[in-house]
Amino acid sequence: MLSLPLLLLLCVGSRGFPAISEPQEQDGDLDIVQKYLENYYHLKNEGKQIERQKGKGQVVEKLKEMQEFFGLKVTGKPDAATLKVMKQPRCGVPDVAQFVLTDGNPRWEKTHLTYRIENYTPDLPRADVDEAIEKAFQLWSNVTPLTFTKVFAGEADIMISFVSGDHRDNSPFDGPGGNLAHAFQPGPRIGGDAHFDEDETWTSNFRNYNLFRVAAHEFGHSLGLSHSTDIGALMYPSYFFSGEVQLNQDDISGIQTIYGPSANPSQPSGPQTPRVCDSKLTFDAVTTLRGEVMFFKDRFYMRVNSLYPEAELNFISVFWPRLPNGLEAAYEVAERDEVRFFKGNKYWAVQGQDVLPGYPKDIHRAFGFPATVKSINAAVSEEDTGKTYFFVANKYWRYDELKRSMDAGYPKMIAHDFPGIGNKVDAVFKKDGFFYFFHGTRQYKFDPKTKRVLTLRKANSWFNCREN
Ligand SMILES: [Zn+2]
Ligand SMILES: [Zn+2]
Repeated sequence: MLSLPLLLLLCVGSRGFPAISEPQEQDGDLDIVQKYLENYYHLKNEGKQIERQKGKGQVVEKLKEMQEFFGLKVTGKPDAATLKVMKQPRCGVPDVAQFVLTDGNPRWEKTHLTYRIENYTPDLPRADVDEAIEKAFQLWSNVTPLTFTKVFAGEADIMISFVSGDHRDNSPFDGPGGNLAHAFQPGPRIGGDAHFDEDETWTSNFRNYNLFRVAAHEFGHSLGLSHSTDIGALMYPSYFFSGEVQLNQDDISGIQTIYGPSANPSQPSGPQTPRVCDSKLTFDAVTTLRGEVMFFKDRFYMRVNSLYPEAELNFISVFWPRLPNGLEAAYEVAERDEVRFFKGNKYWAVQGQDVLPGYPKDIHRAFGFPATVKSINAAVSEEDTGKTYFFVANKYWRYDELKRSMDAGYPKMIAHDFPGIGNKVDAVFKKDGFFYFFHGTRQYKFDPKTKRVLTLRKANSWFNCREN
């Protein structure tokens, strides 16, 4: 298993775990709001609208529109979550269409397209630029009948260039950060063309900004896609880099709606982003973390957060770039202010946002599991006793955090000591003296004193979903 140092998000600092706090407006925030809404939501620039109108009118409407798009609580106010999104580096293409398209969605009426790289960024060797561009087109050709041929002279369908500031297309770039690139929808002349801001530093790794990642997104526009509200999709407007650049199912469905599937007999599919209020939602792992409860699924974490209507959903690597995706178990040792994450035979310890040095470590050496244990399904620690429970298939182990050794007499049968929860566990956490066990879409509240299940609810019942 690769451990991926990977997803970077500029706005999240590296000190401590960001607590959910009251929004604090800072100098310059109103400018950010004004500019963001002008650039991406077609707010008309008529001087300082925000100050003059004091929370009324078009700004509020545009703010609501933006909050709706990003799945934020729709307040019409520039609250902390809204500002956080606005400070993320992103694509320069607006999230809303300026004009209603009268003759359907723009598309190429041919399947064999040409592209030309007009100039090269000095940030990377030419071969790296060529490769990033080629791979970005390949993502889209893999799932459609489209082909992309590189040409070296004349007018190609998709002209690619690195430019900065005002470059005479009415969509100036803005220096480092912020607006990274943009591309035009299919059409003649400038149609389909992709421009990359030369004031950014372009890379072929996890440093900002990965050219392959940004090009893959921009070419989606070149082919006729607009922005997606799915945070896991390549066509999401903000820049996230998780190390792997791949089309999400939402991207694939979008492009195939326009051009149809590829002729390839085995149709590629992409990962899907979990929906927090999906009644079929299951979890890989759940843990407390400094008073919050964090839920993990595939590449994502979820948590209840007053700034989101249902629950916040974001990439695990936004907080912990060094953690892998698809975590299998997690538990907090509150006394040490430490959370331990498990995947396969490895585990990582984190403090706030920092993965502690020396990890990952091997679970057999660290905890004394026998070689037959290949992975942990779920784990939870009791603060008062210092005992940690590890659930593996239909058995569980008990580990003593103080003695740092496995208690004698284990493993034991889950069904015997935790009656009512079934014989397998996906995830578990402890809160206010109760264990919450997850298996499939079910969640069992268990009282360890009386050894009884108190309530049975949906796994995602912690979120503010209407049906919960
Ligand atoms: Zn875009
Ligand atoms: Zn441009």
